[in-house]
Amino acid sequence: MINRLLRVPGRSTSRTDDEDASSAAVRLADVTHEYGSSGSRFRSSRDRTVTALRDVTLEIGPDEVVGLQGPSGSGKSTILHAIAGLLVPTEGTVRLLDTDLSTLSDRGRTRVRREHVGIVFQRFYLLSSLSARANVALPLVQAGVPKRHRRKRATELLEDVGLGDRATHLPNELSGGERQRVAIARALAPDPDVLVADEPTGELDTGTGAEVLELLTTVGRDRAVVLASHDEDTLSIADRVVTLRDGRVIDDGR
Ligand code: ADP
Repeated sequence: MINRLLRVPGRSTSRTDDEDASSAAVRLADVTHEYGSSGSRFRSSRDRTVTALRDVTLEIGPDEVVGLQGPSGSGKSTILHAIAGLLVPTEGTVRLLDTDLSTLSDRGRTRVRREHVGIVFQRFYLLSSLSARANVALPLVQAGVPKRHRRKRATELLEDVGLGDRATHLPNELSGGERQRVAIARALAPDPDVLVADEPTGELDTGTGAEVLELLTTVGRDRAVVLASHDEDTLSIADRVVTLRDGRVIDDGR
């Protein structure tokens, strides 16, 4: 049986049109990020800029699971946001597959994110008025996938995360672990090349967290996964753990 938590067979990522392209799924080069640095309404009176990343260089392979660890405020989430194109760093480049995200318009970055990146948050962020299946199908609505295909893909993904019998349940009818599994299914719906997860077990007890980690381990078998976490169990599923301090990589885990 095809495991639909893995990549869709036959879908391959073209890397042929860029001579410099490496085999990396993600490549951050000399990335520095200051929050509040450009056009900030705080700038004039008091300097409220925060340097969240300093000269970060990091490469993540196409089927590598990388953990990001470091104290709170060390820049883990900022790296995830930069990879997902949710922010453009003040300096340096972020390449996702062949694409330098900093060269794209906001619209272009949104498109690349929708097609290539799945995002899992600590707090799930499911839409409370939609069923589990409709939540999973949501990224496919944005991608213009026909309804029948959306429904099929969402149903299958829910089966694969062990929630085939919960498809019509609303988020508040599900446990925390079940909600996170729905959120993972949603992140996988467009078959992303890269999954980023910010404290994916942060809201879960140990047993439920272990189920979610098992799922993420499967998901990471053939795609890049970047996990930011404080939790040792979560970091233990990574092939490599990168350590950050004050926005710098102090150990890249190699
Ligand atoms: P971590 O995920 O390791 O806790 P973050 O990437 O969230 O770290 O934060 C890195 C630094 O950037 C921290 O000093 C934090 O306060 C600051 N920061 C994060 N988000 C913002 C924001 N939207 N505006 C201003 N500062 C921020």
